Amino acid sequence: MSAPYILTVRDDADLSRVMGTLAAAGLWVRALEGAPQRLLEVDPRSSTTSAAALAAVPGIAGVAMRSSAHPLVDKRAGEPVLLATTAIGPGCRPVLMAGPCAIESESQIARIAEAVAEAGGVLLRGSAYKPRSSPYAFQGHGPAALRWLRAAADRAGLAVVTEALAPEQAGPVAEIADLVQIGSRNMQNFALLRAVGREQRPVLLKRGNAATIEEWLLAAEYCLAAGAKGVVFCERGLRGFDPSMRNLLDLGAVALLSHALRLPVVVDPSHAAGRRDLIPALSHAAIAAGAHGLLVETHDDPAHALSDGPQALAPMNLAALMAPAVHA
Ligand code: PEP
Ligand code: MN
Repeated sequence: MSAPYILTVRDDADLSRVMGTLAAAGLWVRALEGAPQRLLEVDPRSSTTSAAALAAVPGIAGVAMRSSAHPLVDKRAGEPVLLATTAIGPGCRPVLMAGPCAIESESQIARIAEAVAEAGGVLLRGSAYKPRSSPYAFQGHGPAALRWLRAAADRAGLAVVTEALAPEQAGPVAEIADLVQIGSRNMQNFALLRAVGREQRPVLLKRGNAATIEEWLLAAEYCLAAGAKGVVFCERGLRGFDPSMRNLLDLGAVALLSHALRLPVVVDPSHAAGRRDLIPALSHAAIAAGAHGLLVETHDDPAHALSDGPQALAPMNLAALMAPAVHA
């Protein structure tokens, strides 16, 4: 991430030339509020630069660095998150993570694991603990499902991503997961962020459906400060005004994290669209925007799925989702 630099311009006559030089280098600058016009701030969403490069621009008299609220996140710019069998993030081939919304039985997750592996998937997803809007909806099979998930992934040669909903689940989930998922509804559950971080595993951090990017970065800072071995950000759509789709997929945020902040970011087109017919289009758009992977729900009998059946893709259609990445 480009650190938020504060620049002092030598005098007023240099101002427009300095602004022109910085703009040509892909940097955005803004005059600092309440400061004389000659104090500029480099927008952190700009392309990357260094203090030395800025100091060399004719007309700049001084370069200082504004302290960031999420230094541990910033420090990881350009670094992929490492799992035992793969890496996710800048410089890596996009990865496919797929599986059912909920782990429904030992045989269901075993069958789907084989299909995910056949489609070129690298991680198996599936929840043992389900965050449901209704307390009467299926809540997941808990510890037994964690065991079924790990066994199915091992047999199929896949890594595991699964969700912890509450601090007391952080330990048992981290024991079997390569990547511990924090769900959208829990992005600012600070006790959970800390508990998962303390397990010293990599974390998949879903964006809250009304969270700003800064809040998302700060949530990741909680995980890293507690000990997490890296954070993969997951964009899954924001609450929009239009009920045609479940959520509004923010691909601008994906481009920003991937290209400007250079942080590992994946897209979940299933929870964004809420309908399977749009998953291929959103997946291709996500890869084009810079996503380092996809998290996709798949089910071999979606009509009888215990949760999110309408947005589950048939396993046979999974492989095509990564086509743009393969041909890039
Ligand atoms: C999920 O991935 O299982 C899930 C519940 O998604 P989200 O937290 O994005 O709603
Ligand atoms: Mn789901």
